[in-house]
Amino acid sequence: MKVVVIGGGAGGLSTASNIRKYDENVEITVITRDEHIAYSPCAIPYVLCGDVDCFENIIMHEPEDYLERNIDVIIQAEVVEVKEAENTIKYHLQEGRNDVEKELKYDYLVIATGGSPFIPPMEGCYLDGVFKIRTIKDGKQIMRWAEKSKKAIVVGAGLIGLEIAFGLKNMGLDVTVTEMLPQIVPRSLDPDMAKIVQNYIEKKGINVILGTPIEKITGETQVEGAIFGDEEEIRTDMVILATGVRPETTMAKMAGCDLGRWAIEVNEKMQTSVPNIYAVGDCVEVYDAITGHNTQSPLGSTAVRQAKIAARNIVGIDAKFNPVLNSMVSQVGNLEFGAVGLTKTSALQNGIKVISGKSKALTKARYYPGAKRIDVKMICDIKGRIIGCQIIAEERVAERVDTMSLAIAQEMTCSELANTEFSYAPPVSMVIDPIILAAEDACAKLQRMHKRKENKKDSNHNISNNLKS
Ligand SMILES: Cc1cc2nc3c(=O)[nH]c(=O)nc-3n(C[C@H](O)[C@H](O)[C@H](O)COP(=O)(O)OP(=O)(O)OC[C@H]3O[C@@H](n4cnc5c(N)ncnc54)[C@H](O)[C@@H]3O)c2cc1C
Repeated sequence: MKVVVIGGGAGGLSTASNIRKYDENVEITVITRDEHIAYSPCAIPYVLCGDVDCFENIIMHEPEDYLERNIDVIIQAEVVEVKEAENTIKYHLQEGRNDVEKELKYDYLVIATGGSPFIPPMEGCYLDGVFKIRTIKDGKQIMRWAEKSKKAIVVGAGLIGLEIAFGLKNMGLDVTVTEMLPQIVPRSLDPDMAKIVQNYIEKKGINVILGTPIEKITGETQVEGAIFGDEEEIRTDMVILATGVRPETTMAKMAGCDLGRWAIEVNEKMQTSVPNIYAVGDCVEVYDAITGHNTQSPLGSTAVRQAKIAARNIVGIDAKFNPVLNSMVSQVGNLEFGAVGLTKTSALQNGIKVISGKSKALTKARYYPGAKRIDVKMICDIKGRIIGCQIIAEERVAERVDTMSLAIAQEMTCSELANTEFSYAPPVSMVIDPIILAAEDACAKLQRMHKRKENKKDSNHNISNNLKS
């Protein structure tokens, strides 16, 4: 059996490795247009900020490592055509000075083409000193330019925008982050929680401009400034566009795969509408576990989980990809923030009535040296089922987000969670975990809400009785 994988990112290479894990005999070829493979784009901001020494350190494998496992990886090669009827792909690569076109036959094709950074349609986006962020090459270019710069503007205050902003701040630049919506991290945090992160980054000296879309980037050949709304120009030496990712679906379209609202449509097996073509990663759309609607999950963690499912099905082992909760975590400076499931804002947008339980607590016993403040916001529907959670602290956010991911996936209610047994020792936790405190707060709010409803019912009943008599 021959499997061809388009894309050497998290999705593509994990699919290839997993197929090999299950089957020694499959012929596997991975084709990528990138120069590097098997690196973590997620680590690029942390190279900029100096936590990771250099870009080379975030490359985990070279093509030769895959060859040892009998996986052929072809780099700097662009797939230009998928001939679905002939089960063949065509790709171009440079051999010496010649651009050579080659063909490969497949029994199964895996499309793991990821996404391309969204470049807003506005003046100045292609000036020197304006960058997108996706690959190591982008990271290196940003670093080189930043080394000779004093000021930077990061457009987009999602998690990638904030991480890059912090990286540049650590390099000594005067950094401004701008966001067209009225809050930072709008996809994962509610405004009240986003404000905690905003206060932190502002205290660290990063300027934040909210609710103002960028109008244009100015300069002759090189960026000189940016204009936001009706405001005057802000001068800058560089602009980073962290304005989202668009799924790369060209090859899928060419192969005749159905596209959904956001990206390539796949079933639970990660199979496209063309039975011997699978797709994984940022280029596919997924089901949201709470709303049941199609959505995107542009996360490395999602790509790797999907890759395992696609690989098993390709080698004949039945496996299903579960709907997503979009569990995420990030770190800017010393502050970690994470979220899973829906925010209150997104729940309301989806017509789900909710209440939220909150806690402000500590990560260790009150008296223990080094205890840090932790903020938890838990979102529940009006039956008490937990549908989302956001957590911010200077430590131990990821494991709590994962605990909440499990609780939501198990459809727990806030009262069930409030009665769950958690571990305790003063140096690592509070005797009542902040998550439990938030669940208790949600329970109390639900009780009050039900009581109000009952009181209203009683008073309506009394009024109608009085009227009758
Ligand atoms: C700065 C940054 C920080 C991030 N931080 C996090 C994080 O903390 N946590 C997290 O979970 N996720 C994070 N992500 C997202 C994560 O990196 C992506 O979700 C993940 O890389 C998606 O993997 P993928 O395989 O779908 O796509 P990609 O990694 O983008 O790989 C796509 C591959 O397809 C290749 N390709 C496309 N078209 C062709 C073609 N026609 N021919 C040949 N090759 C082609 C590309 O060259 C590339 O190799 C971050 C991303 C960035 C940019």
